[in-house]
Amino acid sequence: MLITSQTYTRSEKTCSSYVRYLNNGQETYGQVKTFVELSECACPGLCDCPRTFLAFITEFTSQFGFTTANPPFSIQYIKKVNASETVHCVPIKDILNVCFYVNLDGQEYLCDPLNTVEMYN
Ligand SMILES: [Zn+2]
Repeated sequence: MLITSQTYTRSEKTCSSYVRYLNNGQETYGQVKTFVELSECACPGLCDCPRTFLAFITEFTSQFGFTTANPPFSIQYIKKVNASETVHCVPIKDILNVCFYVNLDGQEYLCDPLNTVEMYN
C-alpha cells in the first residue's frame, strides 16, 4: 500500500494521501499532510536504531453514507466529508487504507476501496 502526503506534489493525479485511520481506536477519515520519522538515539550518521514513523493527518468530519436521490439508497462505503481544522498525529501502523477522493460540485467524498485490487493498484 502506497500512502503519500499532501506535500508530495508528484501524487496529484492519484490523490493517495486520503486515508482511513484509527484515532484513539476510532475509525476516522482524513488527508495526510506529512510524515515524520522519530528516533531517540544520538548516533552520528546512519544507524539501525528503532524508529517510529508518524503521520500528521487533517481530520475530515461529517462522515455518513452517501444516499442516492431516487430511489433513496444508502451507500455506506462512500462518505460525505468536510476537512476540519483538527490535525491528528498517529503512528503509521494506524493507517487502515487509502481512500478514493471525489469532488462533486464542491462537495467532497471519500470512498473506501472495495477490494485489494483497487487498494494496491
Ligand atoms: Zn542510533
